Amino acid sequence: MSDLIQCLEDAICNGGTPVAYCGFCGKVYYNSNGEFMDENELDDLEKKRVKNPKKYIPKDGTISHGHFAGREYVWGCRCAEFLKYADFIWYNRFTIADYFRRRSRLELVDAQTQSNLLNQ
Ligand SMILES: [Zn+2]
Repeated sequence: MSDLIQCLEDAICNGGTPVAYCGFCGKVYYNSNGEFMDENELDDLEKKRVKNPKKYIPKDGTISHGHFAGREYVWGCRCAEFLKYADFIWYNRFTIADYFRRRSRLELVDAQTQSNLLNQ
């Protein structure tokens, strides 16, 4: 199952950062070596981690992240809220694929109509 989830994570996560917030669960992931952070940022995160170790998660290296459903997601978080989206997409894949086909056909007709109008 984890490789299947990784397919979605790889599709979403397309950037790296020293600190990232998972908008699905609220956890904050950060590069434990402090590279590319503002002055005192790592110390502040470490202090927060001492008070709330389940929310502040140190990692080795850059944090891979991206945006999905209007929220930031951190590669590897796999929190329950994110997994609900992954399950929804997979279990509705045939309906979603059919929707893409139908909508693409309509979008193409609309684009052709507009192109014809602009080129008269
Ligand atoms: Zn999360």
